[in-house]
Amino acid sequence: MVTGSGTYGQPRCSLCSEPAVFFYRPVQRHLCRTHLFTAIEQRVADTVSDRNLIVQGDTVAVGLSGGKDSTALMMILTKLLPSWKNVRLVAVTVDEGISGYREETVRSADRIARTLGVEYRHVTFPDLFGDSLDAILRGRESQACTICGILRKKALASAARDAGATKLATGHNLDDEAQSVLMNVLRGDLPRLMRDSSADSSGRFIPRIKPLMAVSEKEIATYLMLHEAWMDLPECPYARHALRREVRSILSSLEYHHPGTMLRLMESKGKIEKNCTGAIAAGPLRSCRECGDPCSGELCQLCQLKKTLDRELSGNRP
Ligand code: SF4
Ligand code: ZN
Repeated sequence: MVTGSGTYGQPRCSLCSEPAVFFYRPVQRHLCRTHLFTAIEQRVADTVSDRNLIVQGDTVAVGLSGGKDSTALMMILTKLLPSWKNVRLVAVTVDEGISGYREETVRSADRIARTLGVEYRHVTFPDLFGDSLDAILRGRESQACTICGILRKKALASAARDAGATKLATGHNLDDEAQSVLMNVLRGDLPRLMRDSSADSSGRFIPRIKPLMAVSEKEIATYLMLHEAWMDLPECPYARHALRREVRSILSSLEYHHPGTMLRLMESKGKIEKNCTGAIAAGPLRSCRECGDPCSGELCQLCQLKKTLDRELSGNRP
């Protein structure tokens, strides 16, 4: 194994003698371009096969926002596609109607799907709910991500169903997943901490899968840059209201000073899941009293939201 610096002090790949482009801090390993690509793509393939996320005959709707994570997800799934039997990919973009932000990412999503030759579908909040997110949020900006999250989830599920999808893949990466674990602990929401959205024995949901869950944000950024697919996109104007932003900054600092923190957080979640299944139950699956959608309480999240907003979210409701 060749490790360490080259003649002029430039680090060399720990697996070959090529110049390194990435340092994988949790295991202190330098990687060249080729070995970084292989490591990332193999990790995604392993996540998919270890967890049975994609099986023969699946139609996978990929939530393609046009941002970094979903772009990398689309590229990697397209690359891995020939290794799966009889699997179809469909890109789905949800345009919430966020002025000065979403227009650019939607254009980017359209371009990526066309470049990769993937079928592309595009749905909007005004079509589904009768109004843009900007209009729905007026005066409620501090709740932006909660409201947006509920509506986006419905919109994606609806678009995936229309595309005949059997799985819905999103671009959540290791950083996102570790942040969610910490947020659920901070909120004391143990049922949500335990929820596995990729498993559905009821047959009433399209299982949501996260093939990038073991790939860090930094790896994704480097992957895109080396493929010349990096884009400088604006940040959502509502992101500043999110608890996630604070958690993200805390975790980034911990990861910097203690490499491997995020991986260990995910391992802890796995151990809790393994040892506490049944002890922390999310409750039986019921049907929403208003719309009939599957949910855990009397009302689904969308119908609860409609009551809270005290307004009709009309349009072609998903
Ligand atoms: Fe929606 Fe919040 Fe994400 Fe903006 S940052 S797209 S409001 S979830
Ligand atoms: Zn409902």
